[in-house]
Amino acid sequence: MTRAYNFSAGPATLPESVLQQAQAEMLDWHGAGASIVELSHRGPEFLQVAREAEADLRTLMSIPDDYAVLFLQGGATAQQALIPLNIASPGQKADYVLTGHWGKTAIKQAKPYVDLNIAASSEAGGFRDIPARGEWQLSDDAAYVHITANETIHGVEFRDTPDVGDTPLVADFSSSIVSEPLDVSKYGVIYAGAQKNLGPVGVSVVIIRRDLLECAGQPRADIFNYASHVAKESMLNTPPTWNWYLAGLVFKWMLAEGGVEEFAKRNARKSALLYDVIDSSGGFYRNEVAAAVRSRMNVPFFLKDEALDKPFLAEAKEAGLISLKGHRAIGGMRASIYNAMPEAGVQALAGFMRDFQQKHG
Ligand code: PMP
Repeated sequence: MTRAYNFSAGPATLPESVLQQAQAEMLDWHGAGASIVELSHRGPEFLQVAREAEADLRTLMSIPDDYAVLFLQGGATAQQALIPLNIASPGQKADYVLTGHWGKTAIKQAKPYVDLNIAASSEAGGFRDIPARGEWQLSDDAAYVHITANETIHGVEFRDTPDVGDTPLVADFSSSIVSEPLDVSKYGVIYAGAQKNLGPVGVSVVIIRRDLLECAGQPRADIFNYASHVAKESMLNTPPTWNWYLAGLVFKWMLAEGGVEEFAKRNARKSALLYDVIDSSGGFYRNEVAAAVRSRMNVPFFLKDEALDKPFLAEAKEAGLISLKGHRAIGGMRASIYNAMPEAGVQALAGFMRDFQQKHG
């Protein structure tokens, strides 16, 4: 068996040791006589898994006590709808800063519930930059300001937390959570689908400042109410136990590897290596994102001639480098290099890109 280096944007590569551990525990979890996914979510075994996962994530991200942590279903897209339902009153204003494809989905999901103001947008420039904070047209009375911390398709990442005063800052961290240290206290809500940096698809993490749970919000069923989920420790109904368990294994792996400080260093080296190959290729490879906001997690790039796309992907696959095709929304190539992508994988890709240019340039 040979595992390829997998640059998929999500579901994405997982640490090999985590997969091995899950494999070893598959039939009999710690002497329970059954797999963890065959046991009740209310039993002592799964409760231990769930509570350890939350505790480990709190340690990893230094989450203050006045924040609740939820493990929910529905993906990041569901959170994009639940946020206005939970923390804005009907018809209240909400400000959105649009910096790429996923900001658009956030706007689409929120629009039925709020008076939505696009406070700033980089769409006219093809989502290659982040509008300067001074240009944002924030409302005086918005329920929150929403940003997409890292745009997975366009490869644009906030490198600083914007100051929005007392208005709660809500951020979609789906593709960059736990990639570097983060001051959680600067945010009202942080949410992320797990399938990039946290584990397998099927569970989302929501980190919410507890006072926001007291917002009246809008008429909504219990299952869409964050406060109800907090009261029931994310077990209002049957949670996605397998996904939660695997995410917990990823958190333990991250802690053992040195935590977010260590991953920040690795991620900086990994992304710098790829951008260097692109920038020093004399136009053979191209990334048009403003240097200051280039994503460390998703590196989109184009070849100088589209006719080279197919051979690039085919030869990369031959070399054990898979899932490099760019998102259909923009085409080209994309290398997603989350925490679980080893530096050796990025070095292999950089070497391949240089060789490919030599051959076809
Ligand atoms: N936000 C971002 C930044 C994403 O990358 C994605 C998925 N690629 C989503 C939201 C949507 O996530 P989900 O499919 O979990 O709903």
